[in-house]
Amino acid sequence: MVRLPRRIDETNVTEFLASFDNVLSDCDGVLWKTGKVIGCANDTINRLQSMGKKVLYVTNNSTLSREQYVDKCQKLGFQAKKEDIICSSYVLAQYLYHQQFNKTVYVIGEDGIGAELDHVGIKHTGIGADPAPTNEKILTVAETRELDADVGAVAIGLDGQFSFPKMIMATSYLLNSDILFLATNPDEMVPVNREDMTCPGAGALVSAVETASGRKATVVGKPSEILFSVIKRNHNLDPARTLMIGDRCNTDILFGKCCGLQTLQVLSGVTSYQNLQQYALGEKIEENNFLADYYLPELGGLLDLIDY
Ligand code: PLP
Ligand code: CA
Repeated sequence: MVRLPRRIDETNVTEFLASFDNVLSDCDGVLWKTGKVIGCANDTINRLQSMGKKVLYVTNNSTLSREQYVDKCQKLGFQAKKEDIICSSYVLAQYLYHQQFNKTVYVIGEDGIGAELDHVGIKHTGIGADPAPTNEKILTVAETRELDADVGAVAIGLDGQFSFPKMIMATSYLLNSDILFLATNPDEMVPVNREDMTCPGAGALVSAVETASGRKATVVGKPSEILFSVIKRNHNLDPARTLMIGDRCNTDILFGKCCGLQTLQVLSGVTSYQNLQQYALGEKIEENNFLADYYLPELGGLLDLIDY
């Protein structure tokens, strides 16, 4: 059996705090839940900063741009600057920019992706409602629509206006194997503040297009090491002195483990303690990398231990 994460408590908190200089914090499920701060996560992050820790905000949410995240963080009491925000829309744009990508991206996604692509001067098409009339027959789009010859990549993030015509366009572009296939994040679902409802995440849309195209998307957000390579371009981080905090073990914790970071699981979001027990007993090798070094019920618990 693989070792379960150790709970941070009075006996190990000093050793824990001394072991890192940098913090990469997941956002939804660690710092806030759909716009509401979780406990005293903001005071905890501020305290870590005042202790000299560098904090970056690492989110798989692609629907906002870095500027919009700065506003959101400030409203919720986090002192974030634009360069501290690492959202998957930004990672996507940086990844393409540093490949000298100079064609157009067909985007299934929201304005956050558009803003970040605009920021690095990369052309894009597709954001917003597809122009097909809602009563159009399914095959009409496939048989009448022109493909844009300048499209060199298909990129998928969460899109509230996802539609069958968009799937037709993405799948048709992907018939050409020279066209890149990228995904901002693989999250299966986005938690909502209700027990009896859920919201599909970008991963669900990516899987639909993967099935139709027979191709596999390159994920740029967590758990991909591409995200860490984008961070390293602008921030001088020693992985061994960097802590990844997350609530979702198959994105946040897996990312931390794959990049050689220390890891802290909080239980205020997607992954429960029962899930961790199942992974510890399970036989899938990848699931070993779902188990963090430490855990806490929620991030604010660290503040109590610092003040202890
Ligand atoms: N994608 C979308 C659209 C979301 O709304 C969220 C969370 O709210 C996420 C992804 C996951 O974000 P994070 O990586 O901060 O948990
Ligand atoms: Ca999360």
